[in-house]
Amino acid sequence: MTVAHAPSYESAMSSYEPVIGLETHVELGTRTKMFCGCPTEFGAEPNTQICPVCLGLPGALPVANAAAIEATIRIGLALNCEIASWSRFARKNYFYPDMPKNFQTSQYDEPLCVNGYLDVVLDGETVRVEIERVHLEEDTGKSLHVGGSTGRIHGATHSLVDYNRAGIPLVEIVTKPVAGAGANAPQVAKAYVTELRDVIRALGVSDVRMEQGSMRCDVNTSLNRPGAQWGTRTETKNVNSLRSVERAVHSEIIRQAGLLDAGERIIQETRHFHEDTGQTTSGRSKEEATDYRYFPEPDLVPLAPDAAWVESLKATIPEPPSVRIRRLQEAWGLTDHEMSSIVNAGAVELITATVESGATVEAARKWWLGELARRANAQDVELEQLSITPAHVAELQALVDAGRINDKLARQALEGVLAGEGSPEQVVAARGLEVVSDSGALGAAVDAAIADNPDIAAKIRDGKLAAAGALVGAVMKSTKGQADAKTVRELILSKLS
Ligand SMILES: [Zn+2]
Repeated sequence: MTVAHAPSYESAMSSYEPVIGLETHVELGTRTKMFCGCPTEFGAEPNTQICPVCLGLPGALPVANAAAIEATIRIGLALNCEIASWSRFARKNYFYPDMPKNFQTSQYDEPLCVNGYLDVVLDGETVRVEIERVHLEEDTGKSLHVGGSTGRIHGATHSLVDYNRAGIPLVEIVTKPVAGAGANAPQVAKAYVTELRDVIRALGVSDVRMEQGSMRCDVNTSLNRPGAQWGTRTETKNVNSLRSVERAVHSEIIRQAGLLDAGERIIQETRHFHEDTGQTTSGRSKEEATDYRYFPEPDLVPLAPDAAWVESLKATIPEPPSVRIRRLQEAWGLTDHEMSSIVNAGAVELITATVESGATVEAARKWWLGELARRANAQDVELEQLSITPAHVAELQALVDAGRINDKLARQALEGVLAGEGSPEQVVAARGLEVVSDSGALGAAVDAAIADNPDIAAKIRDGKLAAAGALVGAVMKSTKGQADAKTVRELILSKLS
C-alpha cells in the first residue's frame, strides 16, 4: 500500500476538482422474488425461502415478477426517465458462492429506464443530478464467515451461505458523472442519496433501509486538475449509511489528492469504507474491464411496456419529497432552520401524521424533537422505531390540553406507552395518572398541608399571598404531582382568607 502525505481537504480542493458518480441498489419490497414465487420476508431462518428457480437448479424456468417491473417503471418516472418501449433481461456471467446460478439475471444494453434526473437542494441551491439508467436485476444470497473475530473471510474457519435473499428484485440506479460540485461534492452525494431514498420511500416500493441493506450505495470518485481530463476513478462499495456516503467521498478526495501530489497515479479499483476509521481501503483491482459475457436471457420474454399503461402509472407518482418539504414548511409557518431540524431528525412523516391526528405543529415538534428524540438517542434507534405512533402523541397532547394531565404526568404516560402498556388514555387510566382537580378530593390534602405548616399558613392569613406557593408545593408532593395546582391554590386561599 502506498503511503502518501494526506493533505487537508481545503488544500486538496485548491488543486483538484472532484467528479463523483453514484450507483445505488434498492431491494424492492415485492411480496415474492423476481423470477419465482418465493417469499421475501427479512429475517427468516436461513434457506427457508428458496426453490429450484432461485437456487438455479437444472431445468427450472424463471417468470418475471410484474409487480417488480411496475415498481421499476414508477421509480424511473419519479426520476424523470424515458421508459423503454422494449427492454430485455441479460445474463451477467460470473462466479460467486452466494449466487447459485453462476450468472445474475440483469439488464445490460436494454434497461427499462434511461436519461432522467433528480434535483436535490443543498443550502437553498438546487443541484441537478442526471440519471443514466434505472434497471432491474436480482439480488445474490448472503455469505456468513464463521470462526474469525471480525466476521470477514480472513481468519474464518468456515463459511455458510443463506440463499433467502437470492433472487429478490433489485433496482440499480446509476447517475451520470457529477462534475462541478467542487468542495461540496461530499454533501451533494449525501443529498442525492437522501433525496433518492425519500423518493423511493414515497413511492412505497421499498422500505429503503440502509442499515438492513435494502438500499446500498457504491460511490465513484475521481480528481482532476482544473481544465484537465477527468482522472481515474475508484469505486467505494456498499456504503451503508447516508453519513458514510458523505464521509467516503470526503476521505477518498483527500487520499487521492495525497497520491497525486506525490506524483503517483490513481489505480482503478474497488475500495471499502470503514465506519470506525472513516477511511477507505483497497478492494479488488479493476484495471482490466471485467468481461461478464453478457447475453440476452433465453428463458425470459422481452419486456414491452404498453404506452397507455406507463401513462397511467404517471398518475401514481407522488409529489417530489423536496417540493413537499417546501410546501409543508410554508403550511406550518416554519423557518428554514426549524424545517431542517425536522428533516435532519427524520421526523417529517411523524410530525405530518401527528398533525393529521389533531395535534398542532408546535406540539408535534415539541414531542418528536424533544422528549422522544432524547429517548431515541439514548436507545440508539431512529425516531420511527420507537414504540409510539403519531396518533398516540396527538392523544397525549390532547390529554394535556384538556388539563387531565400536566407535563410531568405526560412524561410518565409516555413512558408507559413506550413500554407497551397501551395508548396514552389506557396508560393514564391504568397507572392512575390523571390530575385531581376535584376540590372534595383535594380538601384533605390541603388541610394536611396547612396543619403541617402553621407558620406559612399564618403568613397567608396576614395577607402575604406569595407564601401560598410553598403550600401548593407541599400538596403537589403529597399527591405525587397529580393535584391540579390551580385548584389547590384556590382552595388554600379560600380556606385561609
Ligand atoms: Zn425461489
